[in-house]
Amino acid sequence: MVDVNRLGQQLTGLTPLARLLAAREQIVGRIVFTTSFGLEDQVLTDLIFANDIAIDVVTLDTGRLFPETYNVWTETEMRYGKRIRAYYPDTAQVEALIDDQGIDGQYLAVAYRKACCNIRKVVPLRRALDGAVAWVTGLRGGQSANRGDMPVAAFDSGFGLIKINPLIDVSRDFLTETVAAHAIPINALHAKGFPSIGCAPCTRAIQPGEDERAGRWWWENENAQNGTAKECGLHVAADGRLTRGMQAQQ
Ligand code: SF4
Repeated sequence: MVDVNRLGQQLTGLTPLARLLAAREQIVGRIVFTTSFGLEDQVLTDLIFANDIAIDVVTLDTGRLFPETYNVWTETEMRYGKRIRAYYPDTAQVEALIDDQGIDGQYLAVAYRKACCNIRKVVPLRRALDGAVAWVTGLRGGQSANRGDMPVAAFDSGFGLIKINPLIDVSRDFLTETVAAHAIPINALHAKGFPSIGCAPCTRAIQPGEDERAGRWWWENENAQNGTAKECGLHVAADGRLTRGMQAQQ
């Protein structure tokens, strides 16, 4: 049994690498890191692979990613000599989705967008996390207002595991300095105004001064006040928030 509160306290104040090492040491069982090959995820991938930490690095290929994302995926595997396990949506579910709402139905209604995210991301994520006791993410407080108060470790009631956010309190400058210092491959879209990169139809470049995630699902501005509009269902629990302080089974 791991006391998630205590784990969170122990991880606070440590470097991202020390957090990963401490989490791996204290948590018995499978730990999964889900990467979408953004700046944060590339730094975590480098820490995990370069230090040979026993954490499974996996990705969710929605089938609608940018070509640049596939490029950095390939570059990353070549750089570290490791395969990144990919999880795909269920073919029948995707076919039924497109039959129902069209190839770009996500623009037509929030419910359609959420249905697409559920089939292409959330359902595959559940398979990726199957059997895991902890989930490492690249969440960072500076990405958006609703991520600002997320802890370094918490119990995620939606997925029933410990969620570790080793970069939650680091700055974007720290990340850019780290990728430069270690020549970590990064997505070419970052240099074109995309600080946050998801699916191609649902991501655009941002303007100076905008929230880092302003380019995600930008057409849903009318919902932007509720704090969940810029999330796709991966990082909120069933009740819409992270929960803290629960005992997690190992
Ligand atoms: Fe579908 Fe867009 Fe969600 Fe990707 S981000 S799964 S394309 S709605």
